[in-house]
Amino acid sequence: MNWQWCGWRKAARGFILRAGSRFRGLADIAEAPVSLSALPFAVRRAVNDAIDLARLAARPYLTLCRSIIDGMVSTMEVLALPLSCRWPGEYFLVFARPRKSQVDLARLLINSTDEGILALSPLEGVGASPRDYQVLSINNAAARMLGAPAEDMRFRLLSEVSAAECLARLLDRRNRDRAQGAAAPSLELEYDLAGEVISLQVGVVETDGLLAVTLTDVREIRNREVLFRSLFDDNPVPMYVRHIATGAFLNVNAAALHLYGYDRPAFLALDIRNLEPNSAARVGSSGERFAHHRTASGAELDVIEYTRAITVGGQAATLSTIVDVTERKRAEERISFLAHHDPLTGVGNRTTFSQEIEEAVATAVAGHQPFALVLIDLDDFKAVNDTLGHAAGDSLLIETADRIRRLLRRTDLVARLGGDEFAVLLRGALSRDDVQLLAGRIIQAISQPHGYEGHKLSIGASLGAAIAPVDARDAGTLLKCADLALYRSKREGKGTFHFFEPEMDAEMRERRELELELRSADFDRELELHYQPIISLRSGGLRGFEALVRWRNPRRGMVSPAEFIPLAEETGMIDAIGRWVLEEACRRAACWPQDLIIAVNASAVQFRQGRFAETVGKAIAASGLDPSRLEIEITESVLLADTGANLALLQRLKDVGVRVALDDFGTGYSSMSYLRRFPFSRLKIDRSFIRDIGSSRESMAIVRAIIGLGANLGIDTTAEGVETGAQLELLKQERCGEIQGFLFSPPVDSVGALRIIDSYRGGESKVA
Ligand code: C2E
Ligand code: MG
Ligand code: MG
Repeated sequence: MNWQWCGWRKAARGFILRAGSRFRGLADIAEAPVSLSALPFAVRRAVNDAIDLARLAARPYLTLCRSIIDGMVSTMEVLALPLSCRWPGEYFLVFARPRKSQVDLARLLINSTDEGILALSPLEGVGASPRDYQVLSINNAAARMLGAPAEDMRFRLLSEVSAAECLARLLDRRNRDRAQGAAAPSLELEYDLAGEVISLQVGVVETDGLLAVTLTDVREIRNREVLFRSLFDDNPVPMYVRHIATGAFLNVNAAALHLYGYDRPAFLALDIRNLEPNSAARVGSSGERFAHHRTASGAELDVIEYTRAITVGGQAATLSTIVDVTERKRAEERISFLAHHDPLTGVGNRTTFSQEIEEAVATAVAGHQPFALVLIDLDDFKAVNDTLGHAAGDSLLIETADRIRRLLRRTDLVARLGGDEFAVLLRGALSRDDVQLLAGRIIQAISQPHGYEGHKLSIGASLGAAIAPVDARDAGTLLKCADLALYRSKREGKGTFHFFEPEMDAEMRERRELELELRSADFDRELELHYQPIISLRSGGLRGFEALVRWRNPRRGMVSPAEFIPLAEETGMIDAIGRWVLEEACRRAACWPQDLIIAVNASAVQFRQGRFAETVGKAIAASGLDPSRLEIEITESVLLADTGANLALLQRLKDVGVRVALDDFGTGYSSMSYLRRFPFSRLKIDRSFIRDIGSSRESMAIVRAIIGLGANLGIDTTAEGVETGAQLELLKQERCGEIQGFLFSPPVDSVGALRIIDSYRGGESKVA
C-alpha cells in the first residue's frame, strides 16, 4: 500500500515511538524514538492537526501537508488513527502518503491573475527593420488581451500576432525614450480587438536582458473617468472640489466657471474668500447651507451650497454643488415688497398703512403715547393726468412720494392710499407745533415745480392731521378726523393745512344739511340772479352784465355761490342749477337793449355730461336771445379736463355764435397754450392781481403781460374786482379793454340792472 506508517504518539510528551523507514525518509527524521518537534514545520503541523482531530472525533482523520521544492508544490496526505491500549496515555498510528501530482506554483499564480504577464526576449532589428520581441512566457490574461491562445503565442514574435504588434512598437518607443533619458513612468496602449477598444496600462521591468511586461486593463477606470467627466465637467449645475485640509480648489466644472465668471486657472488659484467674502477659510462639512457669493465682476449671488465628502486621487476632499437662488430670492423679496408697498412709488400701500395705524393706535391708547396722522391730497393732480397723460401723472406721484419721504424720520411711515392721496404716520412724541412745521415743509416741497419731459409741472397739496389718542382712540375714527381736517384744507384753498377740530364734525353735519336743503330747494323761488355791469374803458359805455347766482335760503338767508356752487359741483346738482341760471339769464337779457351782452359762468363739471351745448341752445331758443349776446365764462379747469372733448364742445358753442370768455385768468396752468388752441372772445384778469396792482410790481407786471397778450391775439381783456380809482387809472394806462368791480357797482338784482341800464342810456354815468 501507499501509506507509509509511523509509530505512536504519546500525547503528553509528543513522541514518535517508532517510525518506518519510508516515513523517516518522507519526514526527514532520524531513527525513533524522536520528539515530534524534530519533524519539519509543515509535517509537524499536519501530524498534530490529524492527531487532534482524530482524538476529538474518536475515529481516523486525514489532513494534507504541502511543501514547495524548486517552485513545485507537493502534497502529502497524513492519516491519524486513535489506538486503544492498556498502557497509560494516548497512542496514535500515523500514516503518510505523498500524492503523485505536483503543481507548478509560478504558473498557478501567473495564470490565476487578471493582470497580463509576459516574459519577452528582445531581438535586435536588422537594418532599418525595428526590433522585435520573442514571447518566452505569457499568461492566460495577457493572451486574452492580445487575442490569441497562450500556447499559440509562446516562442512567437510579437510582430507575428496582429494585436501584439502595437505592443512591440510601444516597447520600441520606450527604448528610444530611455536612450534619450525621457522614459515615461507608465505606458499606455490602446488598440482595437475584434471591434472592441482595449485600453491597457503597460509596466516593464528589465532583468538580464529579459523584459517582464505587465498589462493592466484600464477600460473600467477609463469608463469611470468618462462617466465622471460627464457628471462633473459637463454638468449644467455648477460644482467645485476643495481639498479638505487646505481648502484649496482642486477642480471646477464649466458651469461654475460660467457662473462665477473666471477662467479655469484663475478659479483654481482663488481663495474661498474671493467667492464668499465672509466665509471661514475651512471647508464646510457635508450638508446644505445658504451663502452669499460674489462673482468675478463683483455681482452678489444668493446660493445654496450642497457639500459632501469625496476622495480625489487619495486626498480627502469635498464636492460642492451650487444652486443659484438669486433670482428666486429676489422674486420672493419682490413679492413680499409688493404685498406691502405701492408698486408705483415704492412707499407703503393701504394694507401696510392699515396695519401700522391699528398698531400705533393700540400703543398710543395703552401707553398714552401720542402720534400724528397726516393726510395729504394733491391739488390739481387730475388736471396734470388729463392734460399731459398718465405717464406724467405717474412721474409726478413718484417724485412727490420721494419728496415726502425725504422730510421724514426713519420711524415715520408714508403710504399712498390711492390716486393722489398720501398718508403719513408721525411716530414718537411730537408737539402740535412740530406737526404744523412739518406739514408746512411737505406743502412747500410738493409745490416746487416738477420737471417732466421739458414741461414744468406745478401742483400743490392740501393737508389735514389728527392726533391719537387725543382726537380718537381707534383707527377708524382717527382716519375720519384727519379726513375732516383735510376736507377743510381743500375747501379753504390750495396749499393749506388744518388740524382736526371737534367743530369740523359739526361743520360736516352742517354741510350735509345744506346739501339736503339744496336738493329740495325750489329753484324758481329760492335762486335768483344778480347782475354786475361790465364797463368798456374805450367807449366809457356799458358793455353788459355778468350773471351771478344767489341762493335765498328760507332758513339761512342769502347763501354765497362760493359756498353752494362747490357743493353743487360735488353732488352733481350743478347741472340743474346751471340750466336754471342759463335760462333765467337769457330770458332777462332778451329784454335788454340789443347791444348789451350777458355773461354766464359755467363750471367744469357742467361740461362733463357733454349736454352743455344742448342746454345753451335750448336757453337761447326759449328766450329768443341773439346768440352773439351770450358770453359763457369758463375757467381753465374746463380746458384741463378731457381737453379734446371740451374743445370740441366750445367749438360747437362758437359755431352757433356764442362767445366764450376765460375767467380768473392767470391763476391756473400754462394759460398760453389754451389761448392758441381756442379763439376766446375775452380774458378776465383774476381779481387777485387787480387787488395788488397798486402795491405789487409783480401783479402789475402780470396784468400788463395779460393785456399785452390779449392785444397780440386780438382778444379783449376785462379786469375783475376793480375797487379803487387808483386801480382804474393804472388799468387805463395799460389800455385794459373792460372793467368790472365794486367801483362801479356790486352785483345787483334784475331791477337794479335795469336801473343801471337806464342810467347809461341817459348818459349820466359814463366813465370819463
Ligand atoms: P367769478 O365768476 O370770478 O365772479 C366774480 C366774483 O367777484 C363775484 O362773486 C362777484 O361778486 C365778485 N366781485 C365783483 N366785483 C368785486 C370787487 O370789486 N371786489 C371783490 N372783492 N369782489 C368782487 P360771487 O358772486 O360771490 O361769485 C363767486 C364765484 O362763484 C364766481 O366767481 C363764479 O366762479 C361762481 N359763480 C357765481 N355764479 C355762478 C353761476 O351761476 N354758475 C357757476 N357755475 N358759477 C357761479
Ligand atoms: Mg365769472
Ligand atoms: Mg372771475
